[in-house]
Amino acid sequence: MLQDETKIKSLEEARRQFSTRHKCEGYLRRLRWPDGVKCPRCGANHPLYMRKYRRWQCRGCRYQFSVTAGTIFHRSKIDLPRWFIAIWMMCHSPKGVSAKQIERELGVHYETAWYLAKRIRKAMKHDVFEDRLGGIIEVDDAVIRASGDGPPKGNVKFEGKSVLGVAERGGFLRMMILEGLKARDIKRVIAPNLGEVQEIYSDAASRLFFLTEFGRHETVAHIYNEYVVDEAHVNTIENAWSLFKRGLAGMYHHVSAKYLQEYLDEFAFRYSHRHEKGRLFDLVLANC
Ligand SMILES: [Zn+2]
Repeated sequence: MLQDETKIKSLEEARRQFSTRHKCEGYLRRLRWPDGVKCPRCGANHPLYMRKYRRWQCRGCRYQFSVTAGTIFHRSKIDLPRWFIAIWMMCHSPKGVSAKQIERELGVHYETAWYLAKRIRKAMKHDVFEDRLGGIIEVDDAVIRASGDGPPKGNVKFEGKSVLGVAERGGFLRMMILEGLKARDIKRVIAPNLGEVQEIYSDAASRLFFLTEFGRHETVAHIYNEYVVDEAHVNTIENAWSLFKRGLAGMYHHVSAKYLQEYLDEFAFRYSHRHEKGRLFDLVLANC
């Protein structure tokens, strides 16, 4: 975690901290090279800084580079402060941020805002999706209302998309679109995501009985009616669903089936890091 980013409590503060290209470049430099600038090509220390060009030149291999080299900011028509503010917004709103809000806050065209959000969403695929999940796992499915690929204007057609949520209790969350609701459909989606599972909780649907193959499986008869019996609950994932659905209704109004997985990933990433928001911003930035 860099300096006191965690202390940025509001959009206004973020605007102050990232008000100029110079400030953003400084932040990015300290994030990329916490122990001093290094040549990205050969790794040599102490490159020569050419102030006029805002670039360094490696004293070893002569390679010239800027702080944005190899990032999505490089040669972007959108300035660094706008990128930074958009990232900050997307990291700090638990329910998500719509392109419309980014458009309004940054004073850019809707198309630009949409592009920014899409690129940032891509950078949010990070550690959450790398390793297999383990420990105490909760599994639950839900139906998300997504719009079809119809014409952008006029009546929007909706379809229910089944989505599987897999959460480590106190850890990472993943949400994946299901192509079917049979045990084999669910197994195909869940198997590559599970590692060393201690216990696994789900509702009592028979299509989930195969989960015993992955660890000690306990079911909750009906999560709405049954009291939480010891540790047998799926509250983590239920909480995630309700937050996701509220975000969808309030921020995005509707999401097309085509982009649903991207929104699920964005949400899962943010949810997985919900207790370390300061780090979240740096993670996304480092991944841009
Ligand atoms: Zn070099």
